[in-house]
Amino acid sequence: MKQMQFPKKGTGRDALMKELDEMSVNDVDWESGRLFSLIYNPGRDVEEVACNAYYRFLMANGLSPFAFPSLLTMETEVISMVADLFHGDEAVGSMTTGGTESILMAVKSARDWAKENLQVTGTPELVMPVTAHPAFNKAAHYLGLKAVVVPVDDGFRADPKKMKDAITDNTVFMVGTAVTYPHGVIDPMEGLSKIALERNIWLHTDACLGGFMIPFLKKGGHPIPPFDFELSGVKSISADIHKYGYMPKGASTVMYRDKELRKYQIFAYADWPGGVYGTSSVSGARTGGAIAAAWSVMRYLGEEGYIRLAGKAMSATKKLIDGINNIPDLYVLGRPDATVFAFGSDTVNVYDLQDKMKQRNWLVESQHLPASIHVTVSPVHEDLVDEFLSDLREAVQEAAQVEEGSRSEEAVIYGVMGTLPDRSQAWELAINYLNDLYTLK
Ligand SMILES: *Cc1c(COP(=O)(O)O)cnc(C)c1O
Repeated sequence: MKQMQFPKKGTGRDALMKELDEMSVNDVDWESGRLFSLIYNPGRDVEEVACNAYYRFLMANGLSPFAFPSLLTMETEVISMVADLFHGDEAVGSMTTGGTESILMAVKSARDWAKENLQVTGTPELVMPVTAHPAFNKAAHYLGLKAVVVPVDDGFRADPKKMKDAITDNTVFMVGTAVTYPHGVIDPMEGLSKIALERNIWLHTDACLGGFMIPFLKKGGHPIPPFDFELSGVKSISADIHKYGYMPKGASTVMYRDKELRKYQIFAYADWPGGVYGTSSVSGARTGGAIAAAWSVMRYLGEEGYIRLAGKAMSATKKLIDGINNIPDLYVLGRPDATVFAFGSDTVNVYDLQDKMKQRNWLVESQHLPASIHVTVSPVHEDLVDEFLSDLREAVQEAAQVEEGSRSEEAVIYGVMGTLPDRSQAWELAINYLNDLYTLK
């Protein structure tokens, strides 16, 4: 394999910065709001506060609360503010680098709690609706649990009866999601909480996506069912600050009902010649930037600011949903509860539609099972709704004309992945694809 030679000499600062600029010309122009995933765009002012705070603490290392007491203060204050948001009088938690790490931590804590508190003899099981995030499959895979995946109801919400039926003597963990990624709905957490209490299993609310949106929608007068520590069956919650908390990447929270439960998350090793070593989450060294930025954005916006931004995103979402349902070939899937939704079609191929939108400089994600287009609405989208809908109407007309043979490669691959009857083949394809992608060509 031909590797890139490690540079013998350094490159000048200006030349490097220029190269970085040139490299990013093919990246999506997210600042303009034409992206509907990946970045949660609150507008320039918030971004500036976050980035300045991040930069100020970028070199600081969150590994040592003794060297950087400022980070310890900020992290515990962030966690305490989040506990307040989620009705967690006794709640504690940790900041992590992202939703995946938060979920890993919650599953690990539940597994170790179960070892002490439940009589499980077989492989411990994690019961999840099919719409729960793959980070739970990943956590099960990493931590030696069996993921039991349960179908959802016609409205794409977890079905408490089906979830209950999936519980066995080995079940230790159950998850419901407060704003699912694929269809933007809130699972019936109240029903799941009852089951968790009855069967004495750990219930986790995955509010990675909705955690910093739905509490503010509720405070702004929108109907939001209970999902947090208000429900006594909920033992842990994950909520990403780097989504609707409007932070640059690298900030999430994992919250526990009380301090006894968080104990199962913490790792310490006292016999290392390098000193007594302990961390609360997966990461060892971690940047102080994410902690300082989270603390600053929450303080900068306050409840008032978050309610205002949630209102903007929600108003854009309502207009988009109405507009899409008024296009004869399209329909919105289920009844979305917040600012994330998906739409599909029985007449046009959505992967062609995605291509046609891309030609108009709109980047929307596609999904499968069932095929649909995914939309994550940010506050900045409020001003772009009319243009988006008018381009979408045109794109539908064009997508309807695409012939089998002229379909783009991306559209074909996605279509195939969703319809391969042997799912293990699709998994294998995805692994090989990534293994090749991250190899220098
Ligand atoms: C984004 C997301 C996650 C995973 O978070 P990362 O920050 O991408 O690791 C988990 N659950 C839901 C519902 C999400 O939307």
